[in-house]
Amino acid sequence: MRNEEMLLIPGPTPVVDSIYDAMAGETRGHTDPRFVAIYKQAIEQTRTMLKTDGEVFVVAGSGTISMEMALVNTVAAGEKLLILSQGYFGDRFIKLGEAFGIEVDVLQAEWGKQVSPEEVEAKLAQGAYKAVTITHADTSTGVVADLDMLVPIIKKHGALVILDGVCATAAMDEDMSKEYGNPDYKIDVVLSGSQKAIGVPPGLAIVTFNQTALTARKQIERVSAYYCDIQNWIPVMHDPANYFATPPVNLIYGYVEGMRLVLEEGMDKRVVRHNAFGKAVRTALKEYGMKPLAVEEVAASTLSCIVYPEGVDDAAFRRTLAKKGIIVAGALAHLAGKAFRIGHMGNTTEAMLEKAVELIGETLNELGHTVDTTNAVKCFNEQLSALV
Ligand SMILES: *Cc1c(COP(=O)(O)O)cnc(C)c1O
Repeated sequence: MRNEEMLLIPGPTPVVDSIYDAMAGETRGHTDPRFVAIYKQAIEQTRTMLKTDGEVFVVAGSGTISMEMALVNTVAAGEKLLILSQGYFGDRFIKLGEAFGIEVDVLQAEWGKQVSPEEVEAKLAQGAYKAVTITHADTSTGVVADLDMLVPIIKKHGALVILDGVCATAAMDEDMSKEYGNPDYKIDVVLSGSQKAIGVPPGLAIVTFNQTALTARKQIERVSAYYCDIQNWIPVMHDPANYFATPPVNLIYGYVEGMRLVLEEGMDKRVVRHNAFGKAVRTALKEYGMKPLAVEEVAASTLSCIVYPEGVDDAAFRRTLAKKGIIVAGALAHLAGKAFRIGHMGNTTEAMLEKAVELIGETLNELGHTVDTTNAVKCFNEQLSALV
């Protein structure tokens, strides 16, 4: 890999050489048949990964654009949205909804915990929610949402399920053909971004609507958006020779290669690999006296939020680790300074994470906290070989 540093933040994540090489291809016109064929491939690959018979949108924008697209095309101004929030990114839907005059209601879990299904049930029983948002993995807390538990409750009450997969897609099970206990109980919208578990540089918003969600769009008379109105994009997604807004040509080259790697490995294997990565990293870091914010049962496979042991200075820790070539992220909101976040997703490898465990130990020792690096690395490898 030509990367000089290991980018172990919860996105962007490490980009492999073949993706960089693809992106360095000659920039073609966006309606050039050679590019049109590649864009078609990007859409087909996404369709295959999410197993959808609905519409797939792959457009320029960050994950936040995909959140906006998901929302404005399903919930009209004045309609009710229930937000299930397990942290900072769940909360982002509040501001988004408010910006579009949507009536938002939120169930916020304590940071590190899941929203309780009883509370969801009680809220939905009050009725008239058009849609419910679920953040598959909240990147601020490292908490995963339990789809098997939540989807049936939401669908039973007739609301649309909008799944934020920005830190989960291509690592966790997001099968849009999956029936959650009833043929009609399915995920309606999955939204994502290119730079997290997909492992492509930032800049692509990926959104998928099933038939139920597409019907909801048709029932909205006027969407308060232009770029984000999926009706403007449907002709392009059906035939990328049509123009609406210029696609990021070179990023699409990179995405096609990134998705080729995803599909080559296969979703089943990727789910197992990410689960193993998450468990092994957390097991090893616990040996250093570090504490994952989320208990193992609700911890995400793609990233972990790790609370420092007493006396570790956040800035000094991350600076020292960065000098060794490992980049991790600080924690957000009230956890800033008290915890750090480490990504273990996408193109990240076993060897990279083993090295990270070792260098985190070395960093702690340099900062005057005595830890056993060899033991932690051993724990990492034992846990990993037991799971993969
Ligand atoms: C990163 C992230 C976002 C925001 O994505 P941007 O690309 O930064 O706009 C939204 N939701 C989740 C769960 C995320 O992890």
